Amino acid sequence: MRPISYVRTEGADGIDRAVGLVTADPDSHFLAGGTTEVDLLRQHVLAPNRLVDINRLPLSGVEELPDGGLRIGALTRMSEVAAAPAVQERLPMVARALVLGASAQLRHMASMGGNMMQKVRCGYYRDGESPCNKREPGAGCAALGGVSRTHAVLGTSEHCIATHPSDVAVPLVALDAVIRTRTADSERAYAIDEFFLPPGDTPDREHPLTHGELITAIDVPTPPLARRSLYLKVRDRESYEFALVSVAAALEVRDGKVSGVRIALGGVGTRPWRARRAEDALVGGPATTASFDLAARAELAEARTTPMNAFKPELARRTLVRALETLTRDGSQS
Ligand SMILES: Cc1cc2nc3c(=O)[nH]c(=O)nc-3n(C[C@H](O)[C@H](O)[C@H](O)COP(=O)(O)OP(=O)(O)OC[C@H]3O[C@@H](n4cnc5c(N)ncnc54)[C@H](O)[C@@H]3O)c2cc1C
Repeated sequence: MRPISYVRTEGADGIDRAVGLVTADPDSHFLAGGTTEVDLLRQHVLAPNRLVDINRLPLSGVEELPDGGLRIGALTRMSEVAAAPAVQERLPMVARALVLGASAQLRHMASMGGNMMQKVRCGYYRDGESPCNKREPGAGCAALGGVSRTHAVLGTSEHCIATHPSDVAVPLVALDAVIRTRTADSERAYAIDEFFLPPGDTPDREHPLTHGELITAIDVPTPPLARRSLYLKVRDRESYEFALVSVAAALEVRDGKVSGVRIALGGVGTRPWRARRAEDALVGGPATTASFDLAARAELAEARTTPMNAFKPELARRTLVRALETLTRDGSQS
């Protein structure tokens, strides 16, 4: 058995202490809800020598920002964010993505910061043994010629095809959220589009954070069109399952024309996938099934599939069209 030490940090001073402890030691990891960290530790995929517990740091809650946006503390639990009235009213796609993720018990434990940092569900990454460029750079990618039904079709590289697993990151990408962090000597802010890195030649590098950099909050704009938004998740079973395909969409229609739209896809990309091509194709055009279909096809034109996940582009097309049709009708979710 490998010994692991544990340090609990708390109070306002604890933020600097936690950052300092992890920054100074490459084998220390932050511990929030532990729903990813402890799983992967048990599976010998992560091997920290020390866990720095951040759960008692004052980084919880959903606050109003002066510009009308919401600041979600990094330690706010998924269930707490889903239940916040401001999120339910102004950002229904965020609330829905949270409620459709994991299980009730997990949502009570899992933090928003930890959610942004969760690891891929690729079985070859998680078995701790198979060749995996994400776990061991240069080792190869067993998923490329292996079991790849749930793997990504957008943003893949010859080194990694693992799907980004987060649900809530999908609407956050659609909303241009900002991830706020603290390092030993600065505070930083990352546009969410720049936070989730494509695998390219370095799939082990999933985000731009330095070791010991702590996510403190997520700032989420609340544009008026987001009040009419939804998150549609297609999965192999009705609950407690990751997305095969998901769509976060917000739509504003005036005189039959699309005046504003935000779309992001989950379950299909190596990162939560902002569907800018679809958005560009839709704005100013008619809000009809035919134009929704053309926009979805434009977004998925560059999908690269394996024999096992070749169904995904078509499933994503249908899910996106259905999401936009639903928003055009009454916005109610199914
Ligand atoms: C069975 C199961 C089913 C799941 N289903 C879904 C699902 O359907 N949809 C979905 O979206 N997710 C799902 N998840 C993933 C779950 O949402 C994540 O495990 C959870 O959000 C991680 O948060 P945590 O607080 O537990 O993080 P932890 O496990 O404590 O930490 C995760 C990682 O992030 C780091 N970290 C934590 N907080 C911070 C911070 N503030 N700053 C910097 N680094 C930090 C830790 O060091 C660790 O490496 C599932 C998980 C399980 C176990």
